[in-house]
Amino acid sequence: MTKVQHFDADGNLTGTSVSTTPSRWDEDSRVYELAYTEYLDGLCECGVPRSVCMDPKRVWKVDFRVGNRCQALERVQKAKQKQDAELEKKNIDTFPLARKWTAEDVTAQYGEGIWTDDGEDSQS
Ligand SMILES: [Zn+2]
Repeated sequence: MTKVQHFDADGNLTGTSVSTTPSRWDEDSRVYELAYTEYLDGLCECGVPRSVCMDPKRVWKVDFRVGNRCQALERVQKAKQKQDAELEKKNIDTFPLARKWTAEDVTAQYGEGIWTDDGEDSQS
C-alpha cells in the first residue's frame, strides 16, 4: 500500500490517495530477500563477510588460481590494447570501452587448450 498526500500551491493538504499494488513478494520471499540483502551489505569487496576480513586477529595465507577463460580474455584484450596503441599513434580513434567482450567455449571445435584470436593454442 502506498499513501500519497497532495498539497496546493500554498502548502495546504488537499487530499490523500492510496494505491494498493499487489506485491510480487509474499511474506516468506520478503524475509529471504531482506536476509540476503543484509548478507550482501555485510560483505567486503573481496567477497567475504566484513567481520572476517576486518578481524585484526586473523592471519592470511594468500594464493591464487588462474581461470583459463579469464586468461584467454586477458590475452586477447592485451593484444587489442597493443593494436589500439599503434592506431592511436596514427591518430586513428579506438573505442576500447565500447567493446563488450565475450568468450565462447570452442573446446569441441578446437580441442583442449587456451584459444586466442591469433589462433595460437597454449597449454597452461
Ligand atoms: Zn575484504
